[in-house]
Amino acid sequence: MPTKPKLGQNFLNDAQAVQRIANSLGDLSGRAVVEIGPGAGAITGALAARASHVVAVELDHELAAHLRTEFPAERVTVVEQDVLNFDFAAASAAAGQSLPVAGNLPYGITSQILLKLAANHATLDRAVLMVQREVADRITASPGSRDYGLLSVTVQMYGPAETLFTLPPSSFSPPPDVYSAVFRWRFAPRFEELDVQPSTFLRFVRTVFAQKRKTLSNNLRAAGVAPDAITAAFAQAGVDPRARAEALTIEALASLSKCMDTSSSPDSQE
Ligand code: SAM
Repeated sequence: MPTKPKLGQNFLNDAQAVQRIANSLGDLSGRAVVEIGPGAGAITGALAARASHVVAVELDHELAAHLRTEFPAERVTVVEQDVLNFDFAAASAAAGQSLPVAGNLPYGITSQILLKLAANHATLDRAVLMVQREVADRITASPGSRDYGLLSVTVQMYGPAETLFTLPPSSFSPPPDVYSAVFRWRFAPRFEELDVQPSTFLRFVRTVFAQKRKTLSNNLRAAGVAPDAITAAFAQAGVDPRARAEALTIEALASLSKCMDTSSSPDSQE
């Protein structure tokens, strides 16, 4: 079957990596697992061997049809659908439990998939996902590192993320142009603990990381926040006004976001 590069079809051909991905989800006995982009089923079999059921969401019609011939319907339900439209809440309700998620993602839509999972965190348990290595570096980055930014803070607000292992292009066929990495994400949102509203805080984070070259206060100024309000908020939060957003921990960003006068925060600029 010819592969479709537009759908990110680089199939995993590394049996050891398949086992590591399935093992990294932890104990799957009695669990229903969602697999994103099962492709020809490289990971699906390892998941089906551990879980009570696999819901495999594949956009490609031919691959979905092939998977139905490979796996018995009572072990694997193949859903031929764009994962961005997949109803995780309904799948979780049908399974009567929160769902572990696995997938060697189509790299072209990694961010959209991560945002979709974040939006559905309440119905999810944990995820083990293959992404481009540089993206995994950004997802798991700590404050002060070159890779720390909007993606790190957004993902980590929904729970801790850790890189598990990396793979060279030769682990796939056809080989992609990039290295890949598998990371694990445990869904445990931090909004309540840090006393911030998700939409308000994530909008603040998008504003302060808007331009990496600029200081945090210059990004706020560029978004139309009054200089006085910025000075007051930095003083109240105890944050150096010359700081760049990538130097600040999630806790410091949360405290600064709360100290912004609501009448002058980026929220009121819409
Ligand atoms: N899991 C297989 C493996 O590891 O060999 C295939 C992984 S391949 C990197 C990505 C898979 O996602 C392909 O099978 C592709 O057809 C599928 N895919 C691409 N876009 C998708 C989408 N929007 N929704 C669901 N599946 C998608």
